[in-house]
Amino acid sequence: MKLLDGKEISAQIKEEIKAEVAAMIDNDIRPPHLAAILVGEDPASQTYVASKEKNCQSVGIISTAYRLPENTTEEELLKTIDFLNKDDEVDGFIVQLPLPKHLNDDKVIKLIDPTKDVDGFHPENIGKMVLGEDTYLPATPYGIMELLKRYDIDTAGKNCVVLGRSHIVGTPMSILMSRNSKPGNATVTLCHSRTENIKEIAAQADILIAAVGKPHFVTADMVKDGAIVVDVGIHRIEDASKKSGFRLIGDVDFEEVSKKASYITPVPGGVGLMTIAGLLLNTLKARKAKM
Ligand code: NAP
Repeated sequence: MKLLDGKEISAQIKEEIKAEVAAMIDNDIRPPHLAAILVGEDPASQTYVASKEKNCQSVGIISTAYRLPENTTEEELLKTIDFLNKDDEVDGFIVQLPLPKHLNDDKVIKLIDPTKDVDGFHPENIGKMVLGEDTYLPATPYGIMELLKRYDIDTAGKNCVVLGRSHIVGTPMSILMSRNSKPGNATVTLCHSRTENIKEIAAQADILIAAVGKPHFVTADMVKDGAIVVDVGIHRIEDASKKSGFRLIGDVDFEEVSKKASYITPVPGGVGLMTIAGLLLNTLKARKAKM
């Protein structure tokens, strides 16, 4: 078994971005600028936004966070989006999801200028992705595709099973893996909560991508010998032996599945770091589009 090491590959990507940003600064070109809107106090969202800010800073990308209170009205949020849409100094921005319940994620996403939609969630960008046109790919699937590419994983003609059909992970992942590209050209099966015989289907996968949001959902009996396994899930579980009191696990039972897989992503140190790398790559792309 070999690790698909998100830590190593994301560090490599960040070094490449850092060098490009440094060259911009040397040539008196403004560095890329990413803004993030965070509404409310959700601890996971706060952690994600703080991590995005830190990662931007580490490569020289300017980052600005707009932290709005939990009771922000739709009108107030739309004003911030409108402001960022019009701000020439901001190349791309994200609205951290999920929004508090009184706000509608889908409606809000549609109001982002697609040229600044570095999360790749706007319907226009999703449409371009489906058609194989140049666009911002959603960060998690983008990061996974980069990981497969940089490990030179041969996906053409392979049987790929994606578990989960969310708009941000499972569905775009299934589209990217079936596109005529490298990586890609796989024969894809997309599974969800209504799929019958999911264990048998998963066990036929040459490439298994788990994004169900259930801790240790994928057990060793669901994995073919030699399969490539990508674990998107992130779950905090209590662990008294850790200083923090918790540890992170994925949708895949790593200990057992790693005995059968040829390649596997760890949690942490796998897809999560690649997601950040995907967002940074999209932000750099947004800046270059304006140059
Ligand atoms: P989500 O929106 O909750 O979607 C989960 C998907 O899994 C749904 O399509 C659901 O089917 C399916 N599902 C749920 N239970 C199932 C079951 N028993 N059998 C088969 N399918 C089942 O989750 P998500 O946003 O895609 O996230 C998935 C996981 O990845 C979460 O743990 C999340 O925290 C993590 N995540 C990690 C990153 C990262 O950077 N590493 C990024 C995003 C998400 P239905 O559609 O039928 O309900």
